Amino acid sequence: MEKQADELLTTIKKLKSAISKENCKKLNLNKCERVVQKLASFSENCEDCQLYLLDLKNHFNQLEGNIDRIDTVLTQHKKVINDIVSHLQKKHKLVPEGMYLTLYMSIGMSLGIVFGLTIFENIGLGIPIGLSIGIAIGAGLDADAKKKGNTI
Ligand SMILES: [Zn+2]
Repeated sequence: MEKQADELLTTIKKLKSAISKENCKKLNLNKCERVVQKLASFSENCEDCQLYLLDLKNHFNQLEGNIDRIDTVLTQHKKVINDIVSHLQKKHKLVPEGMYLTLYMSIGMSLGIVFGLTIFENIGLGIPIGLSIGIAIGAGLDADAKKKGNTI
């Protein structure tokens, strides 16, 4: 499986240099690399991850043959990657990068509104306080998850 992953990473690298920056972004190739690395790390104990690696190999070979018409394969590409990411999230408990920040920002904002209306009696004061506490907590949790290798 190591070899499969290495080959895949090489293919992705080749793709990156062959297509435009814009298309790299559309295909989310940086994320694809992380996905491959995660799959490789779980594949020893997870048959699904092994199969996904094989799937990806075929998929990227196909992509390589279609680099002149990325738009025609974009929908399929997103589906392939989303399926794998949802497997990684459900089965291997990975979280999307920046998920906690988004989550705690919205919690902080709502609490800020509530406290702003009640305790401070000033909604304009509550929101920024709530928001900055939310950002502090969320960014901390994101950094922690990333350090533990739990992000995708
Ligand atoms: Zn798996």
